[in-house]
Amino acid sequence: MNQSYWILSTKSKDYENLSKDLRTNTLIVGAGIVGVTTAYLLAKQGVDVVVVDADKVAYGSSGRNTGKVTTQHDVKYSEINNKYGLDVASLYYEGNNEALNLVKNIVKENDIDCKFEEVPAYMFTQNENYIPDLKDEYELCKKIGIDCEYHENLNLPIDIKGAISFNNQGQFNPKQYVDGLMDKCVELGVKIYENTPIVDLEKGDICTVKTRDNIKIKADNVVIASHVPWYDGLNLYFAKEKADRSYLLGATLDKDFPKGMFISVEEPTKTFRKYEGEGKKLLIFGGNDHKTGQGGKEEEIFEHLKQYASENFGLNDFKYEWSAQDCMSFDNMPYIGHINKSENNVYVATGFSKWGMTNGTLSAIIISDLITKNKSKYEEIFNPSRKGGYLNTDFIKENLNVGINYIGGKLKFGSDEMPREKGEGKIVNIDGKRYGAYRNYDDELYVVDITCTHLGCELKFNSAEKTWDCPCHGSRFNYEGNILEGPALRPLNRYGENKNNVDPKLY
Ligand SMILES: Cc1cc2nc3c(=O)[nH]c(=O)nc-3n(C[C@H](O)[C@H](O)[C@H](O)COP(=O)(O)OP(=O)(O)OC[C@H]3O[C@@H](n4cnc5c(N)ncnc54)[C@H](O)[C@@H]3O)c2cc1C
Repeated sequence: MNQSYWILSTKSKDYENLSKDLRTNTLIVGAGIVGVTTAYLLAKQGVDVVVVDADKVAYGSSGRNTGKVTTQHDVKYSEINNKYGLDVASLYYEGNNEALNLVKNIVKENDIDCKFEEVPAYMFTQNENYIPDLKDEYELCKKIGIDCEYHENLNLPIDIKGAISFNNQGQFNPKQYVDGLMDKCVELGVKIYENTPIVDLEKGDICTVKTRDNIKIKADNVVIASHVPWYDGLNLYFAKEKADRSYLLGATLDKDFPKGMFISVEEPTKTFRKYEGEGKKLLIFGGNDHKTGQGGKEEEIFEHLKQYASENFGLNDFKYEWSAQDCMSFDNMPYIGHINKSENNVYVATGFSKWGMTNGTLSAIIISDLITKNKSKYEEIFNPSRKGGYLNTDFIKENLNVGINYIGGKLKFGSDEMPREKGEGKIVNIDGKRYGAYRNYDDELYVVDITCTHLGCELKFNSAEKTWDCPCHGSRFNYEGNILEGPALRPLNRYGENKNNVDPKLY
């Protein structure tokens, strides 16, 4: 079953959808960790806030991750230091540490039951070739003033060649945290509307934002907390970051497991932590990321992870499996702040590179400060309009990859036969045109136009989740053609309807 343990095991509240026009001071689009934390910080200062979400609270990446709240972000400090220098690396740490402490305080002050535990975070290698990288990162972390230690070995049943620990980090159930914080927001007067997708923004001193049902919200400030920005402000976010998918399992733990959160430096990444709650003891285990729409046979990735967990940790009872994606910026720094240089009342937060629990909380600190004080000490280093930093070999490689997939997708021929097996999906040719066909488990056939409605790339079938995924910019659609993840704003048309409309604004 492809659904996050956190979402399956949490009884979510239902909030109504928006059915009439509204006026507010600050509209927040997206009810993940960024949107809900920003709403909380603003509402505490008396700002009038409305939050809308296309789906439900914390049903995006915030309800599908590993639940590590840490300032240890792979070998991030070395990467930032090499690109931007020690001061920027230190400020990145300071901001994320402030965010970690904010999460700890929010949980305590509001008594949020999200199984928050203070634990160390470990980054390890099983490959001697990575020891120099780890040692360099350790020396730099010491220089920055991070409370960390170097280990030759760890109390784990796998062969470790070296590791760094960060002390006093946190782990929680991320869905329960965001839900609990949303409850506090409602108590503070925040209005929240679910199942309310936003499709357009007209800029101005007062912005007008439109829902898919053409309901209008007028707001002095708009915060785009939608993970992938649905409004680009001509700052080309789709070309400055890429979507990476990764995979998680929830396996029954019937023995003790060391306290802490663990992640490998080398790829394919392995990440794991223990979770106790709802009468269960689980190891949340996963990794193996790949660019969305380019994972080969996705269902084999779960098998690979299960094999590793079984051989190395003796785990065999895999009760939960799911995948999720995050936006990876090309210079390892998120984009947080004004969407572009001219629209001072539209804000964005994206590109957390799989570390959005602290970076997302930090986004809320920065954006709420920009709205209420017109400044933040972190605004410069995360400025989404920063020059050049993302223009590097990754940027060139990824955008070449987009071109190759765009053209390659158009040249690929489909099959002349419809899927025969239940659960089978493939590209088919009908009257010389390409479609995506899927036969569901009730033996019903769904045929959709698989040209992505964002920028016209050809979608690929994801065999684990039975979805159509864009290999260029990460949009995802279910087999009926409905949007699961942006940046696309329009669903796919079905066979017999007109061909898809590609996003006219971006073209
Ligand atoms: C497998 C995996 C494991 C991870 N583990 C960790 C971890 O342990 N620690 C960590 O720090 N980070 C982790 N991350 C990263 C982290 O989950 C994300 O960075 C973070 O959740 C992003 O939060 P967000 O609020 O920006 O987005 P989301 O939580 O995705 O929220 C965005 C919301 O916007 C809504 N939305 C989108 N478009 C529209 C629209 N047009 N109109 C209205 N609403 C819209 C969506 O429905 C969604 O609810 C992990 C990521 C993955 C993929």
